[in-house]
Amino acid sequence: MKGTPAKVATAASQEAMERVLERAVERANAERATKTGLQSPVLVLNRSFQPVRITTARHAFTLLYLGRARALDGGFDAGFEPVDFVQWSAIAPSADDDFIGTPRGPIRVPRVLILSGYNRVPSAPLRLSRRNVFLRDAFTCQYCGGRPPMRDLNLDHVLPRSRGGKSSWDNLVTSCRTCNVKKGYATPEECGMIPRTKPHRPNWSMALRMAAPSTRYAEWEPFLEGLPD
Ligand SMILES: [Zn+2]
Repeated sequence: MKGTPAKVATAASQEAMERVLERAVERANAERATKTGLQSPVLVLNRSFQPVRITTARHAFTLLYLGRARALDGGFDAGFEPVDFVQWSAIAPSADDDFIGTPRGPIRVPRVLILSGYNRVPSAPLRLSRRNVFLRDAFTCQYCGGRPPMRDLNLDHVLPRSRGGKSSWDNLVTSCRTCNVKKGYATPEECGMIPRTKPHRPNWSMALRMAAPSTRYAEWEPFLEGLPD
């Protein structure tokens, strides 16, 4: 019995240490992602050079590598010449370019991609996803205004699915676990829980602010004129 409290304490401190390490790794990964630019936003155009979406560099590289898209090299000077992955990876990054490190050397992060087999314009510039709904709502519970860590956030159907509510931009909001449980299967009117902001599909100007709050890449500008809201 004598050793038990010490053992418990050791186990507890080991757990605490593990949590600290976990957070450090998370932080390092996040920093690395920023540094290598894998999270940086990339504008995606259809074959007619119309903006269709903003995506991450990580996804852009996948599209480029798989040949589903080509990257636009440079601005007006380069004549907006779309190039494939092999051609793109042969271009040396300049000092102000974001790049990713690969065993074969640094590869520049593209700013604009042009899709090879797509010529429609989707209804929203951002994919409807959990993360994008959280982003739109600034990671804030739309019922109580709380901002818990992302793992404690839920997607809430304003009109519950069981009552015919759809999974759409205008029926999904960010909510904390507590509010999500409290609301249950009730409609907003029934439980008196009304979202602080009426949920809506992000338009282009909002999507651009969400994807690139501090950066508006010069390479994007020629394609962003006259976009519908
Ligand atoms: Zn809440």
